[in-house]
Amino acid sequence: MTDNVRVRFAPSPTGPLHMGGVRTALFNYLFAKKHNGTFVLRIEDTDQTRYVANAEQYIIDSLEWCNIPFDEGPGKNEKFGPYRQSERKELYKKYAEELLEKGQAYYAFDTPEELQQLRDALEKEGKTFIYNWHNREQLNNSLSLSKEAVAAKLAAGEKYVVRFKTPQGERLEMNDEIRGTITIDTNTLDDKVLFKSDGMPTYHLANIVDDHLMEISHVIRGEEWLPSLPLHVLLYRAFEWEAPKFAHLPLILKPVGKGKLSKRDGDKLGFPVFPLAYTNENSGEVSRGYREDGYFADAFVNMLALLGWNPGTEQELFTLNELISAFDLNRVSKSGAKFSPDKTKWFNQQYLQNAAVKDLSEGYETILKERGIAESADYIQKVVSLVKERATFITDFWDLSDFFFQAPTEFDAKAAKKQWKETTPELMNGLIEVLEGIDDWTANVTEPIVKAWITEREVGFGKVMQPLRLSLVGALKGPHLFDIMEMIGKEATIQRIKHAIATL
Ligand code: GLU
Repeated sequence: MTDNVRVRFAPSPTGPLHMGGVRTALFNYLFAKKHNGTFVLRIEDTDQTRYVANAEQYIIDSLEWCNIPFDEGPGKNEKFGPYRQSERKELYKKYAEELLEKGQAYYAFDTPEELQQLRDALEKEGKTFIYNWHNREQLNNSLSLSKEAVAAKLAAGEKYVVRFKTPQGERLEMNDEIRGTITIDTNTLDDKVLFKSDGMPTYHLANIVDDHLMEISHVIRGEEWLPSLPLHVLLYRAFEWEAPKFAHLPLILKPVGKGKLSKRDGDKLGFPVFPLAYTNENSGEVSRGYREDGYFADAFVNMLALLGWNPGTEQELFTLNELISAFDLNRVSKSGAKFSPDKTKWFNQQYLQNAAVKDLSEGYETILKERGIAESADYIQKVVSLVKERATFITDFWDLSDFFFQAPTEFDAKAAKKQWKETTPELMNGLIEVLEGIDDWTANVTEPIVKAWITEREVGFGKVMQPLRLSLVGALKGPHLFDIMEMIGKEATIQRIKHAIATL
């Protein structure tokens, strides 16, 4: 399709990147890669009051963790740079001036206090104040003032803003790649501020100028920007620039299916909403992250891809490359996408089941080291292959397999009460004798011998196997008992049974 696809992810560095932001970045990335295009990262930091110093690095680290790196952006391939709007500051003024000259924008000198008064007065009548065609000629601006008066104010250094002169009485038709044609009456729009006398552009002006200068072909962003679309379309027209194509992604909804998933929901509802854990610079407050909670990046990305997009088939598991080839803006839905923490866990579980035992073991080895446990890679791999089918996260491994690395120090009281009977010590002593006589300690040798002995004694399997499990594991959990015995070895097996007899 379109040649030379260039898309951008344009976050404002006001805090950690919400998973909705990661989804926006992902869809931009997928679209770019699908069309052999370029994925640009632009940092929209014009609002200095909301600027957070560590946020930009957080954004970059998040994209990297998700394996969706940008092609152009701060510090990388800067042919359309700089990519931080604060470093492009000088550039915007001339574009504000261009619109002023064209009569598409005007100076407004109304003070914040004056505007507040107007707002308050209308509010009393139950109305809202809009600065636009219906009152602009009565307000304090270059449309109502004489040329000389305006020049005098500017010369005196009076504070001003530049407002867009929204065309009056027009049915504006816009196209969205996901939503189709959208029509709006321009009389309902307000004359948005584009530029301020402190030399700073607002989001709208900077965003349009940069998308133009960076030759962005498709603007793919969240639905919350849809209300800005008319202004953006009108700005392109005012500048006589070709507008990019627009696509507004559906909201991500809370697990209940209503209301936008917010940054606060994670803490409230008990799941991460951020890709990486984040420490607030001022309060020291730490928010959880998918990475630190033990999710695989590719499982997280796979889950995000299906929030608002579907492949048109039943397929749910996709590698990044499969996502790139399947992705299509036509299959992005208009309605909000419900986020499910359970489904997210399911994705992780699927990825864990499909992961190579060797890779999982490397992750587990780190956890074991933190606990001061050193075992051979070979041993850890065997453990992982025995317990992984019950795990959703690598961090589950310890609870599933601690007994492979240390003898139980405690016994599950409930299980002990139920399974450890008066006759059990005698049975266990008998079992020890049998075990002592076995030389080849592999499961397929020990299993038939022990089973034959149980059959011979006519006591029932549970009477032996459950106390045996309790002795070796400390609880009634874990994989096949004879595999456990093989792994921990003959000596440890017998010792653990003796310890159970002495303790229980
Ligand atoms: N800076 C805006 C944001 O924080 C960018 C919106 C857009 O993509 O146009 O989301």
